Amino acid sequence: MRFHPPPEVLSAIARLNGRGFEAYLVGGCVRDAYLGRVPEDYDLATQALPAQMREAFFPLRTLDTGLQHGTLTLLTDGRAVEVTTFRSDGRYSDGRHPDAVRFTASLEEDLKRRDFTANAMAWHPETGIVDPFSGRADCDRRRLRAVGEPGERFREDALRILRALRFACQLGFDIEPETLRAMEEAKERLRLVSFERVGREINLALTGESAAGGFSAYPQVLLYALPELRALVGTAGQGEAGPWQTALRLLGALPREPAPRWAALFLFSAPEPGQCATLLAGAQDRLRQPRAPSEEAVLLVRHALEKEQPGDPGLTLYRLGVKRGLALLRFRLALARARHAGGSEEARRAQAMLDAALRLVDEGACLGLKDLAVKGEDLLALGFPRDGRMAKALDSLMLRVLRGETENDREALMEKARSLLGGGEPETR
Ligand code: ATP
Ligand code: MG
Repeated sequence: MRFHPPPEVLSAIARLNGRGFEAYLVGGCVRDAYLGRVPEDYDLATQALPAQMREAFFPLRTLDTGLQHGTLTLLTDGRAVEVTTFRSDGRYSDGRHPDAVRFTASLEEDLKRRDFTANAMAWHPETGIVDPFSGRADCDRRRLRAVGEPGERFREDALRILRALRFACQLGFDIEPETLRAMEEAKERLRLVSFERVGREINLALTGESAAGGFSAYPQVLLYALPELRALVGTAGQGEAGPWQTALRLLGALPREPAPRWAALFLFSAPEPGQCATLLAGAQDRLRQPRAPSEEAVLLVRHALEKEQPGDPGLTLYRLGVKRGLALLRFRLALARARHAGGSEEARRAQAMLDAALRLVDEGACLGLKDLAVKGEDLLALGFPRDGRMAKALDSLMLRVLRGETENDREALMEKARSLLGGGEPETR
């Protein structure tokens, strides 16, 4: 295996070794390097206790991240490296946290407490990979397998059930059958896991490279976390054109961002878009999702299937705002493609709408009240009362500009405003 961790990570290992402590890279970074993926971050495990680490790293800066768990964060050249004392976790009686953390001098003990064989490998620059649970063989077979007795491991910590789904969705691995059976048996214990943690794993799964494949293979695990999708997943038997298959194709075609992907999962979750949006908002609220992407997802679900699509892309950008308007047009294009493989009239129309919208943005077209050549104060000066009528008039002027009926020109708009004040009917969509 070729593994070239950043120099500051290697020097952290050398500093600990220099004081007589074993130290290894462990977990996700070793797995990712073995799979030829770029590690997101680097975690070290060592014999040293936190106070000893601090001394070994001095004068580099450290943060006391979780001293009672033996974890310290080393800050070097713009990189944060988590360093954790070898530990074995003892008994778990709450289905989530070990009753007591025991520090140990043995790397193998430390690897044994880890969840999946692919995550239970260590690496040292001189000795190479340490792999007591055949993580490499499982990576070669693209297989996620619990370390040790699976039933026990999921009873200890039910979060691992969703971690399994998450890794299936990120790495494109299958879940080994014994491991999958143990997940099913322990599923009730997921109620012991906080909604935040469930939400975090679902988000990671949803934005994984292989999310569609993972959800398609393990829909029942997804339902443990999102029972709202039961009716949708129940349509799995309806073949390629069924809503569940369409939702999965859509999911796979979308950028790896939470908002559109949440929307894809819920788009066909109920008969009416309004109901889908309500289910989605409820799920995101329960799983403590951040506000802005949640609102965007709900908006996509509400508007994606609208029958009467506004002919003018500018109108969409004005009504929803440029960012969300573009997100909706992109989502509709992905949906059209997911519905009809190999191109369709719907997809061509969606593409044309998106292109036209992007052109408007590029041209710096007037797409919002802030771009309009008249402002609220202008209307006040004309004698508009400061109430709903002024907002209505601005909206009406905006629509005229978007439709090309009036130039975005102060004089022309003022004249139109005067006629509105004089009793001309305000225009609405
Ligand atoms: P990512 O690339 O998303 O960071 P990761 O494998 O590094 O993936 P983390 O959640 O950062 O995942 O955890 C780091 C390591 O700690 C894991 O690889 C695994 O060995 C161990 N680990 C994390 N959470 C658990 C858990 N709930 N049970 C057992 N081992 C765990
Ligand atoms: Mg990690």
